[in-house]
Amino acid sequence: MSLALRNVSRTFNGTTAVKGVNLEVEPGEIIGLLGTSGCGKSTLLRAISGLDPEYDGEIEINGNVSREIQDTASFIFQEPRLLPWLNVLDNVTFGLTGKRKDKENKAIDYLESVGLSDKDALYPRELSGGMAQRVAIARALVTSPEILLLDEPFSALDAFTKMQLQDLLLDVWKKYQSTIVMVTHDIDEAMYLCDRVVILKGQPGEVEREIRIEQKRP
Ligand code: ADP
Ligand code: ADP
Repeated sequence: MSLALRNVSRTFNGTTAVKGVNLEVEPGEIIGLLGTSGCGKSTLLRAISGLDPEYDGEIEINGNVSREIQDTASFIFQEPRLLPWLNVLDNVTFGLTGKRKDKENKAIDYLESVGLSDKDALYPRELSGGMAQRVAIARALVTSPEILLLDEPFSALDAFTKMQLQDLLLDVWKKYQSTIVMVTHDIDEAMYLCDRVVILKGQPGEVEREIRIEQKRP
């Protein structure tokens, strides 16, 4: 799914947080958003997702201008944000509609792909940070999103878990060719995952430059 930001700005109470951002993203492209803290990376993700419709300018998704919540988009945050009163399985089925059994089968498939099919009955408090983030990934993917919006998804994890989940993300991307916009502070991660890196400078956040990365993906 293609994505285009045209002259997108966001002002909070008279203060401009993001100014005049233009960005064209091709279907299946993986974009890294980099920049110092407070330069508007999260603000841009929220605008794209439709969670924050109060920006100026236009955002086009597959050629259509829209400010609605994007059902075809999923968010993954730095922290898992699981619902503590639901077990792993119910956290993953939560956003699905349909018959209970179908939802559960689908959730189990995705838990399997993140290596957690035997943890379905556990509660969030019983999981390690890495496991909880895997559940968050399964929950984000189970709806087959065409756009994945990631806000520092791996930065709270140890180096080994981080590498595993980066590869998991690539596996998923290969399978579904989702369009991915990912905020990261990790240059190595951006070099490993992204087709293009967009560097913002603040404040207000503006695109400073774009760097294309030649990825040799099998
Ligand atoms: P980043 O993700 O790059 O760290 P943010 O997008 O979170 O930056 O924030 C960009 C700027 O906008 C910051 O100065 C932040 O304080 C401000 N900001 C973000 N959201 C709000 C809000 N809801 N109300 C007021 N200011 C906000
Ligand atoms: P982070 O970038 O650290 O992950 P977020 O950008 O997700 O944090 O911010 C979480 C919430 O706080 C969002 O709803 C955002 O709009 C709000 N927020 C961020 N900065 C400010 C601010 N300066 N004033 C008010 N609300 C803010």
